[in-house]
Amino acid sequence: MKKDLIVIGAGASGIMAAISAARDGKSVLLLEKMQKIGLKLKASGGGRCNLTNRLDSKEFMESFGRDGRFMQNALKKFNNQALQDFFEEIGVKTDSLDGFRVFPVGHNSQSVLTALESELNRLNVKISCKEIVNSIKKENSIFYIKTENREYSAKAVIIATGGAGYPQLGSSGDGYKFAKELGHRVTKIYPAMMPLKTKERWVANCRANTLPKVTIKVDIKKYKKLQAKGDLIFTKDGIRGPVVLDFSREITPLLDKFQSVPVLISLTNLSSHEIYEIFKKELAKGFNGNTLELVQKILPKSVAKELILEANCDFELKFNKQKGANRDRLLNILAWTPLTIIGHNGFDMAMVTRGGVNLKDINPNTLESRVVSGLYFCGEVINLDGPCGGFNLQWAFTSGFLAGKLKH
Ligand SMILES: Cc1cc2nc3c(=O)[nH]c(=O)nc-3n(C[C@H](O)[C@H](O)[C@H](O)COP(=O)(O)OP(=O)(O)OC[C@H]3O[C@@H](n4cnc5c(N)ncnc54)[C@H](O)[C@@H]3O)c2cc1C
Repeated sequence: MKKDLIVIGAGASGIMAAISAARDGKSVLLLEKMQKIGLKLKASGGGRCNLTNRLDSKEFMESFGRDGRFMQNALKKFNNQALQDFFEEIGVKTDSLDGFRVFPVGHNSQSVLTALESELNRLNVKISCKEIVNSIKKENSIFYIKTENREYSAKAVIIATGGAGYPQLGSSGDGYKFAKELGHRVTKIYPAMMPLKTKERWVANCRANTLPKVTIKVDIKKYKKLQAKGDLIFTKDGIRGPVVLDFSREITPLLDKFQSVPVLISLTNLSSHEIYEIFKKELAKGFNGNTLELVQKILPKSVAKELILEANCDFELKFNKQKGANRDRLLNILAWTPLTIIGHNGFDMAMVTRGGVNLKDINPNTLESRVVSGLYFCGEVINLDGPCGGFNLQWAFTSGFLAGKLKH
């Protein structure tokens, strides 16, 4: 039976698109390739589901970079407050313990998913799981959607298939293929929001050490402005943690270009001069330990030891007994620790995809395709990605809401 709308993909954006259209009285079929809907939503925020944040729309858009302005109209219709009101209405209260990130009360993503499922049921949205869409065709104003076993038809279609990251949760880039087949431009895609691998092996000896609020920046003249701040954790072959998740979206395109990317990390947020002053004060107070004990005044032992070795210093010697050049080198390394990013685990561990359906091929007022009328896009399949902190889910819900307000 022909529906008003078929939504392909039941992630955050597709579920919201289906609800938005059904609330306007449309008959909706939601097709999902996995055995259940909303698997990524359930895994988001480590199962706590950081739904959105408290930024106003202007700052929110700026966090997505230059293209963020594309979201202006969508956010006018459905911003972070509208999202919280929506969830309250369907029985999910939200809170923000840190005054910035917004979670469901109880910090349990299952509560979000259960409420969305009830709303879909209440609105009689037909949900069909284990349905992998293979192709979309339009003939005489009707869309024909082929899955492995069946063909469906509808007056309008929304592609809400997500990006290419975390394929084990469903999204594996099918939306880009559909978009291309239907004549849209799709930018190059990169994995983003994931741990990074470094050339330096010493990081392995500092594994599991968390360093709070470090600053990390690219050490290539033309890209010096690319930097991020947040907690960093060393791993067996590189770095991870919130700051790395945010920074990785800048790094993957550079890795593609240069194969390796030098970065500098301020592990203490102190300049070499400030570090020297701290050491001088300690020594003046009568500190009698070796260099390792002295550096432990500002860094954990394992990191202190590795950086001393990197500076060619002997950690058992007293600071004043180190060779002058090595001492200077140590102060510089302690202020800005150099690392070389050489890789990552690709899309398997990418929480977000950078790139997607070209914004020029989508009308920002409706999210309808400029190439095929009656076809809409929402969520991560579109060429927009934000940092950590509820940005990507808000965009998924905002764009789903707007796409579901079908023009016809
Ligand atoms: C582990 C993890 C944690 C995250 N945490 C957060 C967070 O706390 N806050 C935040 O803002 N963002 C977070 N993100 C990012 C955020 O979850 C995504 O940006 C957002 O869910 C994207 O929603 P979407 O609807 O566009 O895509 P998805 O949620 O990926 O949904 C796409 C759906 O389409 C289905 N599909 C794909 N191809 C087909 C096909 N051919 N046929 C039928 N169905 C298909 C998929 O199975 C999937 O269910 C996280 C991501 C991950 C991986």
